[in-house]
Amino acid sequence: MVEKKLTDKLIFASNNEGKIREVKEIMQDYGKEILSLREAGIDIDIEENGTTFEENALIKCRVIHEITGAMVLADDSGLEIDYLNKEPGVYSARYLGHDTPYDKKNQIILDRVKAAQGQERSTRYVCAIAAVLPDGSEYTVLETVEGLIAEKPAGEGGFGYDPIFLVPEYGKTMAELTPEEKNAISHRGKALRAIRSLLEQVGK
Ligand code: IMP
Repeated sequence: MVEKKLTDKLIFASNNEGKIREVKEIMQDYGKEILSLREAGIDIDIEENGTTFEENALIKCRVIHEITGAMVLADDSGLEIDYLNKEPGVYSARYLGHDTPYDKKNQIILDRVKAAQGQERSTRYVCAIAAVLPDGSEYTVLETVEGLIAEKPAGEGGFGYDPIFLVPEYGKTMAELTPEEKNAISHRGKALRAIRSLLEQVGK
């Protein structure tokens, strides 16, 4: 049974370990203990049936806020590849099969964009973060980071599509950056700092 009031805690409505690690790194001095769904004792599969990143983030927050009454944050993020008509977009987690390993997915993407040269390989990570506060008020932010699909996978850090996401300023993929470097420039890093500053502005 989940406690009704969790005033010193904030639930981040995800069990994605890569995301949770990044959220804890970026929000470590926010003054609230950050719990994943698992850590909050919630076992639920939320259907993300929105058509935008913001909608999906809000759907996740509302469901968990309804159950707990706590302050809830959720993100919805994904990769847009311009050469593939902005695929996989909001379907990034499900793209090419939910359980397909990312080294396989990344290789398939590299094959699909093989003919693209230079700026034709442009891509971006998008991250929406929603917050629902204990009083039910809702906030959303959206941030992006621009890159290029790399020629081949590189790096062991990060998660998901990071080995094929080339960050032009560094000449490295996201997976080759340190966690601090990734958090400083990433879509999720920017969106977390934006929601945090928005919540601070409204005194929450
Ligand atoms: P969500 O859990 O519905 O937000 O799905 C996001 C999906 O987008 C992840 O499962 C990854 O496939 C991809 N994604 C989002 N952010 C990142 C990132 O920082 N690195 C690599 N892949 C990401």
